[in-house]
Amino acid sequence: MKKISSKLIILGSGPAGCTAAIYAARSGLEPIMINGNQPGGQLTITTDVENYPGFADPVLGPDLMQNMIKQSENVGCKVYNEQISEIDFNTYPYTLKSNNYTFVTQSIIIATGASAKWLGVKNEEKYRGHGISACATCDAFFFKNKKVAVIGGGNTAVEEALFLTKFAKEVILIHRRDKLRAEKILQKRAFCNEKISFLWNSIILNINGNENPKLVKSITLKSLLDNSVSIIEIDGVFVAIGHKPNTDLFSNKLDLDNEGYLKVHNQVFTNKKGVFAAGDVHDKSFRQAVTAAGFGCMAALEAEKFIELKE
Ligand code: NDP
Repeated sequence: MKKISSKLIILGSGPAGCTAAIYAARSGLEPIMINGNQPGGQLTITTDVENYPGFADPVLGPDLMQNMIKQSENVGCKVYNEQISEIDFNTYPYTLKSNNYTFVTQSIIIATGASAKWLGVKNEEKYRGHGISACATCDAFFFKNKKVAVIGGGNTAVEEALFLTKFAKEVILIHRRDKLRAEKILQKRAFCNEKISFLWNSIILNINGNENPKLVKSITLKSLLDNSVSIIEIDGVFVAIGHKPNTDLFSNKLDLDNEGYLKVHNQVFTNKKGVFAAGDVHDKSFRQAVTAAGFGCMAALEAEKFIELKE
């Protein structure tokens, strides 16, 4: 296994990781950024981004991330398409292992982000990829002229519903309350869209499907107003109920809160020296590309100070 030493390793290449990479590279730290299993992070599975400053017209999420990674490389960050499977925080300098490399480093910025949450109802796992999805951008195309449901009431759910209207003939947004939490501008677009209807105060009990071909055919719903149960026929279900932080690698190694987010003090410091957190992996309040980028900047500046004091 090849051994590589670097002053700073950045885990994750979303807006937090890339911004950390850009700042660290420009301060001469020659950082390494390790892509993980979703290079570019969650923005690579969105469509138009219109709230990231600097783009007068909407920019496509995948394009924005491709440029951020390229910018990181252009200023001197080395990017590895590896997944870390093991980290030793007990001996210093720290060691991280992937299938192909052992990385040794003085400082780590954890920017591993978050992943989509699932409902946990019957048959959800069975029909994933067969009518159940958590990514309209990836899968909407397969639902041309079909009837689909989107579950959730946040920005993701509404954006997914709007995107799906480009393909599906009918989109039902199913939400457990009678009010969306999505931004008003998105709500307005959804309410004005003739293809979108809303089913309020409802939760999914079951997903029902066929065996051959293996496809979703209906969902069983429960009304939270009167507990009545109903079945509606549907071709696809898009789950958009939020995210959970990607911290499995750090459990029992770093302090996590009860929802699994990395615990930080002074914005980006974890409980281990020289180990910093940036973005959705620790921030459950804002979770925006621009705030993740901000945390990436802070983490890089703190890592720089930390490494300087060591030398
Ligand atoms: P949110 O946490 O904002 O919303 C999750 C939604 O799913 C809520 O409406 C919640 O209901 C519902 N929900 C959660 N658990 C369940 C469950 N088990 N069963 C049924 N419904 C459930 O997540 P999002 O992914 O929408 O957004 C995450 C963050 O990313 C937010 O800060 C958002 O602003 C941001 N974002 C920004 C975008 C943009 O600016 N363009 C695009 C997409 C996301 P309830 O309302 O009752 O809690």
